[in-house]
Amino acid sequence: MITNRTFTMLKPDSVEKGNIGAILEKINAAGFRIVAMKLTHMTQRDAEAFYAIHKERPFFGELVQYMTRGPIVAAILEKDNAVEDFRALIGATNPAEAAEGTIRKLYATSISENAVHGSDSDENAAIEGAFHFATREMF
Ligand code: GDP
Repeated sequence: MITNRTFTMLKPDSVEKGNIGAILEKINAAGFRIVAMKLTHMTQRDAEAFYAIHKERPFFGELVQYMTRGPIVAAILEKDNAVEDFRALIGATNPAEAAEGTIRKLYATSISENAVHGSDSDENAAIEGAFHFATREMF
């Protein structure tokens, strides 16, 4: 199902560093419309569930600790080809490999503290949006 929507989180490092405004400006300038948005603080249970796919990875504990250490901004974004275009806008998982001008190149510090999340498929965008906004009507 192609929805033209994706899901993002501005992760705790972005909120801590005061980068919410700058990152949202990049997102708007790239043509995304904000459909839903909230400041929220993930619990350990939330983060473990959200990242369940990574639970066997060696960095899972570190990832859960990072994602729960402070508030995040969760948002649903709309644009043609949203998932793919947003992944291009944020850049590679590791900011050292991210293209110039991408959000991770500009605002991330490491592969673990990489500033933003972007869904990797339409299906996951719907699941992740519902996880944070609790209604599939958003999609
Ligand atoms: P994404 O889709 O680009 O966010 O990347 P992944 O789905 O592969 O990983 C999810 C998140 O786990 C990343 O955004 C990072 O915050 C974290 N992560 C990924 N790889 C590593 C790693 O090698 N070490 C650590 N500490 N964190 C990682």
